[in-house]
Amino acid sequence: MKSIYSLTLEEMETYFIKHGSKKFHADQLFSWLYEKRIKSYDEITNIKKDVLSTIENDYSIQPLKIVDVQEDVDVCKYLFELNDGEHIEAVLMRHDYGNSVCISSQVGCNMGCKFCESGRRKKVRNLETYEMVLQLLMIEELLKKRISHVVVMGIGEPFDNYENLIQFFMIINHPKGLAIGARHITVSTCGLVPKILEFSNFPLQINLAISLHAPNNKLRNQIMPINKVYPLEELIPAIKTYLKKTNRRVTFEYILLKDVNDSEECALELAELVKEINCYINLIPYNETNNIDFKRTKTVQIMRFYDILKKNNINVTIRREFGSKISAACGQLRSKKEDL
Ligand code: SAH
Repeated sequence: MKSIYSLTLEEMETYFIKHGSKKFHADQLFSWLYEKRIKSYDEITNIKKDVLSTIENDYSIQPLKIVDVQEDVDVCKYLFELNDGEHIEAVLMRHDYGNSVCISSQVGCNMGCKFCESGRRKKVRNLETYEMVLQLLMIEELLKKRISHVVVMGIGEPFDNYENLIQFFMIINHPKGLAIGARHITVSTCGLVPKILEFSNFPLQINLAISLHAPNNKLRNQIMPINKVYPLEELIPAIKTYLKKTNRRVTFEYILLKDVNDSEECALELAELVKEINCYINLIPYNETNNIDFKRTKTVQIMRFYDILKKNNINVTIRREFGSKISAACGQLRSKKEDL
């Protein structure tokens, strides 16, 4: 059965009209789900019983299961079991500006980035919209605090699940839904060019991050197979088109991998590559995992890399680290659980 948490407000309106009922019930139902956070349709008092039972027959209100929670000072990691028994993860990070949650978008991932734990398991399926929405609702319920920021950077390639992702954005951004401002939502992609172009026409001002991780094709091909499909000479123009259409800024993520992409030449080449692009570069200290051989760049070298970019007038930050003690790097908690 489909889940009620996959529907946008407009879709609920269409549903009520189609069933000979009143459009405004959609507003009411949205408010029961996202303001009052009901667990059962029985709690609804202002929609007629016969209408409610039609909905109940068509749409489930069932939550997901949280099967493991690991806590550190300013980070908390949740392992979810989906209704078909698959597992995904979400991570809460407490910032001074609010609570940010990183959610998963797929079970497994087909992008095959060499350094990434999630990609060790091939994509099993896309997450349904409700499975993304419920990651947020259930964390808010445990936390008893509002989630102010959302990043789609957990397991999976969100642009490989584009339609459900867009639907998810519509629901969580809606003032009567979770009312999370578009500028507080970020989606990260490894660089699916056609979807970047499609996303440039999406009306909500959601932030776009690109996992770049290398300044040239030769190196990027080695660590990110997707680069053979969409090489830099296609990716960079697509990003420029996105920036032109949206008038926004893009974030480039760059994981520093020891002796792979962390040399001073790489820093210079990176500065050259992005110099005409309105962007931030976010340098990410690599979170080492037991199953993969890449090593983390030493802090002095991270600082050297950072300085070169700064000297070349690039906006650059080093990502604050959360949760390395609790396996918070992408895909690590699921791997532990399933022993993959
Ligand atoms: N598929 C999307 C989103 C998921 S990955 C993408 O590629 O952007 C989210 C980010 O985490 C990516 O930048 C990814 O490269 C990075 N990442 C993966 N494994 C990591 C690790 N072990 N340490 C640090 N960052 C990692």
